[in-house]
Amino acid sequence: MAAKFDILLRNGKLVDPRNEIEARRDIAIQNGRIVAVGPTIDGSAELDFDLEGKVVMPGIIDTHVHISRWLGGREGHKMMAMAGVTTALDMAGPIEGVVELARSHGAGLSIGCINYIRPGHTVGSVNPGSDELTDLLVRSQRAGAIGLKILGGHFPLSKECSARVIRVCGEHGAYVAFHAGTLETPPPKPATMAEACELAAGHPLHMPHINTYARDAGVMGGEEVIATLAAHPNVWSESYLAPFNGTSAVCSNGVPESDATKRGVVLGGFTPNQQGMAESILAGWTHVHKIVDGTVVLATGREGYDAWMEADMQTGCSFMVNPPEPRIHLATAKKSNGTFCIDALATDGGGIPRNDIVERGLPLVRMTALSIADFVTKTSVTPAKMLGLQNKGHLAVGADADITVLDMERLVPVLAIANGHRIMENGVVFPRPSRFITTSMGKDAIEAAGMEPLLVEPGTWLPSRV
Ligand SMILES: [Zn+2]
Repeated sequence: MAAKFDILLRNGKLVDPRNEIEARRDIAIQNGRIVAVGPTIDGSAELDFDLEGKVVMPGIIDTHVHISRWLGGREGHKMMAMAGVTTALDMAGPIEGVVELARSHGAGLSIGCINYIRPGHTVGSVNPGSDELTDLLVRSQRAGAIGLKILGGHFPLSKECSARVIRVCGEHGAYVAFHAGTLETPPPKPATMAEACELAAGHPLHMPHINTYARDAGVMGGEEVIATLAAHPNVWSESYLAPFNGTSAVCSNGVPESDATKRGVVLGGFTPNQQGMAESILAGWTHVHKIVDGTVVLATGREGYDAWMEADMQTGCSFMVNPPEPRIHLATAKKSNGTFCIDALATDGGGIPRNDIVERGLPLVRMTALSIADFVTKTSVTPAKMLGLQNKGHLAVGADADITVLDMERLVPVLAIANGHRIMENGVVFPRPSRFITTSMGKDAIEAAGMEPLLVEPGTWLPSRV
């Protein structure tokens, strides 16, 4: 009797660099796992897809998104599924809201989160000591987070304290990322990132959105950050391809809460207060995140101003601040040994409308600036390694059934499978609770929230490359 599977993917071109496969293969899925891969598989399935002419890759892992109440928001889940993403790391939290939205607005992805260090919110001051930081880390882990985020660009800490955070996380085997910038050295400059790399003092560190530091210096800025990263092999990095950034549009006491927002307003020639913010939106400079049909779009001018007012300012905004040269250079640059200068291609997306790994990444493949295997390496293989997800980033028998299928003619994702479930087909999303990436410390909180935990051992993140 022929075997019966949950899902069969037939005739697609499998691109699986970790297992050195780039060939036509059938793939069978059962109970959330890959159970067979071969030139032809006999049997039938509940869902049987003929993927003739399509590329089949291990599910896209976006190591930098925002899906919290502070930034991004609940729409991010649907938006990521539409973009073919199957796993994502929320790069700020707060963890409680990320967990809640992953349950209530999930699209079946595997979600992880690192919790922000924000004076007045998660810590008491801009210079908390080791005990307070350890306490925050443990509380964050018990709530489901895998580590901490230093938001130097938005809510900077002292230099000394930033170094302390990285050390505390290193000692606990926790994940840590640093939006570079301190009270002493504000971003965004290549020097800000260099300082952050020094403050890591050899501990593992995720340096997010490298674009930020190269932005003003064009191609030379790209070269400068690449040289800094090459000198710090303990630092993992990602860059993104979108022309615009994403930050908070919240004002309190008449001024934008986030330093990044203030800088964006000033860059457009406006005053960094609520009035200046309003003027910058009406003038078409600041783009407000507006919800349309359960997804977020950018709106400016009168439409943007109305959206900002309607949301009572509790939304995000974006500035067109990323010139093309560093974006393309950082996505494609390789070292002399053939490995990438920047480890991963990410988006800083989620609820910020730039889930563009496929949309802007595949044009680089069409231009032969990246091979299709390069693309898969930067968007799935390496991100899986960064997050310590042994069963993701490849499609051998036994791997998690996380798969993204690409239409190379239209440069769009046409099918996404996460944890053995179809989560998106031709732009239609199938909502279901997320799976939450956490440690044994966060297992209870995730189960209590009604989600299946995906347990990862602390200390397996950000492995040393030294
Ligand atoms: Zn971010």
